[in-house]
Amino acid sequence: MNKCIILFSGGLDSLSYLAQYLPNWEIIAITFDYSQQSNKEVEVAKGIVSELVRKDYMISHRIFDLQPVKWLFPSRSISPKYHPSSVLPFRNSIFISLASAYAKTMGSERILIGNHTDDGADWSPMGVPKNPECTRDYLKQLEETLDRGRLKWNAGRIEIWSPARTGLSKASNLKRGYDVLSDIIFQSWSCWTGKDKHCGMCLSCRERKKAFKNAKIVDKTEYAI
Ligand SMILES: [Zn+2]
Repeated sequence: MNKCIILFSGGLDSLSYLAQYLPNWEIIAITFDYSQQSNKEVEVAKGIVSELVRKDYMISHRIFDLQPVKWLFPSRSISPKYHPSSVLPFRNSIFISLASAYAKTMGSERILIGNHTDDGADWSPMGVPKNPECTRDYLKQLEETLDRGRLKWNAGRIEIWSPARTGLSKASNLKRGYDVLSDIIFQSWSCWTGKDKHCGMCLSCRERKKAFKNAKIVDKTEYAI
């Protein structure tokens, strides 16, 4: 069975993408604990993997303790609106690089990340990609760069796959994941707050709601509002 490594935050996008590999791949889910805005993510990720193991899927979980990374944030404030200060600079590149090294250690050549086409779409009114690290072109170039740096005795090119790479939007990625996991999808966590329920107001919650609506799936997430 082929083995892949997925950057698994416990969120909707990464769980939906992970689901699509469950039937045919052995999965190593890695979660980075870096004092992210919602530490709840790590606990959610643990719970979901445990549930998938109970269902006899070939999946294991590794949590990477990256606490010092918190010093790299420009701001630790939580805002219901998207703002560059709420994003860790080069986050995906840092995490993919670490995952690539781990993949080599674990005998895998495929990295999965849940970025979809909406992540890299133009962000009005600035007219720049919302997160250029999420675009297909960026990931292909990173894949090329990693291959150039690969020690030649360490056979095998690392491939970086994402929903964006195959042209999937947030909603279409969700639909494919839901087809595999059904209501387990609702165990994912999207909210930027770490409260008991999704707040329903932050940008991430609003995008979650929109994705279920666009995918024509009844949203059973419990929102505060
Ligand atoms: Zn929220």
